Amino acid sequence: MIPFISQLPEQEQAIWIAALNQALPNETIVAFSNMSAAEKTHCQLAIVANPDISQLAEFENLKWLHSVWAGVERLMMALADSTIEVVRLIDPTLSQTMAEAVLAWSLYLHREMPLYAQQQQSKHWQQHPHVLASDRRIGILGLGELGQASAQQLQQNGFKVMGWSRTAKTIENITTYSGAEGLTEMLTQSDILVCLLPLTSATQGLINKALLMQLPKASRVINFARGAIINTPELLQMLELGHISHAVLDVFDQEPLSADSILWQHPNITVLPHISAPTNMESACEIVAKNIQRFRATGEIPPSVDKINGY
Ligand code: NAP
Repeated sequence: MIPFISQLPEQEQAIWIAALNQALPNETIVAFSNMSAAEKTHCQLAIVANPDISQLAEFENLKWLHSVWAGVERLMMALADSTIEVVRLIDPTLSQTMAEAVLAWSLYLHREMPLYAQQQQSKHWQQHPHVLASDRRIGILGLGELGQASAQQLQQNGFKVMGWSRTAKTIENITTYSGAEGLTEMLTQSDILVCLLPLTSATQGLINKALLMQLPKASRVINFARGAIINTPELLQMLELGHISHAVLDVFDQEPLSADSILWQHPNITVLPHISAPTNMESACEIVAKNIQRFRATGEIPPSVDKINGY
């Protein structure tokens, strides 16, 4: 028996459980709420989707968790001192979905869609100079599963693409940077900055005034990672000064974004409701099933999130 632990609405949770049972015909996946205390003591693993941490404590023999989400920041913070391993979803379908979103919103900024939408509102007819994609420089913070797929998608669409990661990387047709000096070098050349970093103690508040000041004047920012990586009051200051001309934000400190947030009405901010890369249930279930089948056959836990680095 494998528990499915989530805070999803009951109906959505039932759909996940049915799909997981179909992908794993030799296992029985059940909702946390349908398990007895005795059943919980036998579980070595659980499948989770943003679970209530207190529910995990009821499983005294839990060795590892398989998340059906790619981002596991909240779990990592809660389980930093626990021996339970966390396996996150690594899914090429999800990486492609994110790459598509990065391309879509980069094109939105590249082709001045926010500006032309504002002009339409005031019936203002004005043509702005066209910039070739090959002259538009896009810097990506984070070159992991999602960052690399996005970098390649942008490059294939003609953009000049750079990327920054913690450890040095070589990726065909992408200029790569690492370390503090590498970050400055990339920032000074980024007309559009895309954030695909995990939220860790090292990245929390990383996108602040000092970082944004290093971008060229009137550059744009896209955050598809986690809200707390951006210092929002300082981003607002940079927008006010015109140093940043537009920001596309899909993730926020608090979600849903509260109705009284000034971000909703800001003329130079595009607010998205965390939609850049939703998990695809079908591909996710296949990947989770393969990992669990391998664990049952060999006892091997799939590569888990590094508790020291936090991602
Ligand atoms: P990943 O494979 O773990 O990659 C993380 C990348 O960030 C790696 O390149 C890593 O460098 C780099 N990095 C981490 N800490 C760093 C630091 N302190 N300085 C410089 N670079 C650093 O993660 P992923 O699968 O690409 O996902 C990234 C994030 O996207 C997730 O954590 C989640 O928050 C977010 N996400 C958002 C959505 C959405 O719908 N908005 C959906 C899924 C995920 P190294 O390569 O050197 O390790």
